[in-house]
Amino acid sequence: MYESFIGLEIHIHLLTASKVFCGCANRFGDEPNTNVCPVCMGYPGALPTLNDEAMKLSYIVARALNCEISAEAVFERKSYFYPDMSKNYQISQFTSPLGRNGWIDIAHNGKSQRVRIHELHLEEDAGKMIHAGDMSLLDYNRAGMSLLEIVTEPDMKTGEEAELLLQTFRRMVRYLGVCDGNMEEGSLRCDGNVSINRTGAGLGRKVEIKNLNSSRFVKMALNFEIERQKEVLDSGGKIVQETRLWNENRDVTEPMRSKESATDYRYFPDPDLPPFVPTPEFLASVDAALVELPGARKGRFIKDYGLGEAAAEFLVNEKSTADFYEDVVRLGAAPDAAANWLQFDVQKILNRDNRELAGGPLTAGRLAELLALLAGGRIHGKIAKQLLEAVFAEDKDPALIIKEKGWESMDDSAQLGALVEKALAENPKAVDAVKAGDPKPMGFLVGQIMKASAGRADTLIVQKLLKEKIGGL
Ligand SMILES: [Zn+2]
Repeated sequence: MYESFIGLEIHIHLLTASKVFCGCANRFGDEPNTNVCPVCMGYPGALPTLNDEAMKLSYIVARALNCEISAEAVFERKSYFYPDMSKNYQISQFTSPLGRNGWIDIAHNGKSQRVRIHELHLEEDAGKMIHAGDMSLLDYNRAGMSLLEIVTEPDMKTGEEAELLLQTFRRMVRYLGVCDGNMEEGSLRCDGNVSINRTGAGLGRKVEIKNLNSSRFVKMALNFEIERQKEVLDSGGKIVQETRLWNENRDVTEPMRSKESATDYRYFPDPDLPPFVPTPEFLASVDAALVELPGARKGRFIKDYGLGEAAAEFLVNEKSTADFYEDVVRLGAAPDAAANWLQFDVQKILNRDNRELAGGPLTAGRLAELLALLAGGRIHGKIAKQLLEAVFAEDKDPALIIKEKGWESMDDSAQLGALVEKALAENPKAVDAVKAGDPKPMGFLVGQIMKASAGRADTLIVQKLLKEKIGGL
């Protein structure tokens, strides 16, 4: 029997306005080579300056991952040649990264599982090489973007666990507002390392897998690699320490290069950048920027609002949705009704029209108003759904819409009495059946009256009036 060990290296682009060591814009999708300057192009004599905001965002992640904070974070040069890195070295951290020995919990099979964080360091990204036919093109817009690398311990055993860790981490950084988590644009990237060994023998020889640009590929590639290594060992072979690439067209990992060791990179402290020393004031500003994370928030929603697991999970998935929900409840809506409407009726419209909740016509105030109209009996369930559609379509307050459209409930007995009389007169067969003791046509009669009132009649009053009148016939 074999045991498997999986660790992840996750890279995130921090949401800063400028790059990490120069003033160039930190933006995806611009014309190639327009966001460049002598510093990020590595011209001789150009000097880097550390971006304070990038440091702050990095420490926010370090705190959220429960890391020990280093007394000083040292920037080092990692030397290697690659065409997309014109300096021939990358500024990174090696001997003293900013955070170490943290952890993150993932919810796996209904249980909480802890994955240790080995370290967290800030470095600069390289440019991008694009191969087109027999040409290779270089875009240096990405060179020098702030890249935070998070290295986990090999605490996971399956591709499913690794996928879950990546999803949990992605949601966390989006909550913290430090990264948009967009894997398609490369602002969140992931490499995995896998080793297997006979059960009880400890870690095996590590194979690194690159190019895992979706959480689904993380799962597929790591599971594939575990099976591949098992087959190698079963047939008497040895695992080679190497870097492999996930081929998403063939669903296999393929050899890329044998792995360099740290000594090959000849790390040494960058003489142009002093070590960063986090002061108590700096750390206080970091702590002030921390927010309640999704796992904790979900637990609180279940406890404080009496929500079920699925509703709480849905609401906390995006911070903006969770904030919206709490605003609606704060404005007086019943917690379960607000959760229900957001999860089903509202979400249905958002999906259908491919729109976002945040910034749209339905504000927390308007949903709270709609729910209050419904709870107070001024409108009925069917009208409430129509009203929700109308809020999205007309961008007006619910009370104004029901006034304009005349959708308010009809609970005036005299008015309803006339509708009941009319229904009885038009449906003598149904009335006779009810009189003979068959309760079924009652539903039909109520339906006729609802139709005649365009859904505005109060069903309880209608039922009461129907019973009285049929009884008196
Ligand atoms: Zn620059």
